[in-house]
Amino acid sequence: MINHLITQKNWQSQLSETVNSIDELFALLGLDLADHAIYIPDQFRLRVPRAFVNKMKIGDINDPLLKQVLPDIKESLTVTGFVSDPLGEAGQNPIDGLLHKYESRVLLTLTGACAIHCRYCFRQHFDYQSNLPTSQNQALIVDYIRDHPDINETILSGGDPLSLSNRRLFAWLDALEALPQLTTIRLHTRLPIVIPDRLDAPLLERLNQSRCQIVMVVHCNHPNEIDDATTLALRRAQAAGITLLNQAVLLKGINDNINIQSNLSKQLFKSGVMPYYLHLLDKVAGAAHFDIDERRAVDLYWQLLAKLPGYLVPKLVKELPNRPFKVPIDLYKDQ
Ligand SMILES: *Cc1c(COP(=O)(O)O)cnc(C)c1O
Ligand code: SF4
Repeated sequence: MINHLITQKNWQSQLSETVNSIDELFALLGLDLADHAIYIPDQFRLRVPRAFVNKMKIGDINDPLLKQVLPDIKESLTVTGFVSDPLGEAGQNPIDGLLHKYESRVLLTLTGACAIHCRYCFRQHFDYQSNLPTSQNQALIVDYIRDHPDINETILSGGDPLSLSNRRLFAWLDALEALPQLTTIRLHTRLPIVIPDRLDAPLLERLNQSRCQIVMVVHCNHPNEIDDATTLALRRAQAAGITLLNQAVLLKGINDNINIQSNLSKQLFKSGVMPYYLHLLDKVAGAAHFDIDERRAVDLYWQLLAKLPGYLVPKLVKELPNRPFKVPIDLYKDQ
């Protein structure tokens, strides 16, 4: 109980005390720097929370969690078709911090900050500095939603919206809940997976009391990301009345495997989370080495359909720049 109370207070220090140096990461994992060719990028630095490092296997350079965060020299390669703004988002924000691409919902990039830097991230080149909502345009954003009565859902995203303090987050919830047209507030966040203590009691209470339906879409790619502490935190969120969904990205050498995908769905379900999307990689510059041929993805998906109950199979999708929804992958193309 005492331990529990202490860690509950601690998410902000966990967020500020992430591992940011490859030397330290290798020391923690018992790996020898001299054995590996390591790349240190300037733009998108190494960042990983200690709670996530603790889920990695000691001494394994191929650990699937390590591979998601360890910079690779391949990031510096220029590969045809891999660009800095693969979704063409630069032209779709009528107000700084607000993306309106889909009919009934808007997405707010509340912060550029994340607890973890995922090397495949499609927003790694996104110019957050010039595209964050300031306190003045909180009012502009609210006005924009009010002027578009078809919008009934607001997605809090980023970066990671749960890297905001509860105080700042609650101010957004207050402002949004005051709009009668909104039925649903959604959070897109990786924090419950990488720092489970982020789901602290004040946050869960506040979300539980919202007049809107609360959906939390977490981001978990591999069953090893779900340890007991993670399951416990997610189940607490479920008990607070939050609908929990997962989106994953299909990543070469990390989760492009039938058993891993199947275990991921089962571990999520055990934690109260339903699989939602399995995304093909967005073709962002620096991430080509994670890409999987669409044909292989479809093969894997057929295996998944055969192995799991329907409710544990995520939708296989990709994003295309000018489509107002995530596009389902054609499963019959070359059958
Ligand atoms: C992914 C996304 C959404 C949400 O899409 P859903 O299919 O409802 O999950 C909304 N807006 C933007 C800009 C997105 O990229
Ligand atoms: S948590 Fe999400 S937004 Fe942040 S680096 Fe990872 S994939 Fe990108």
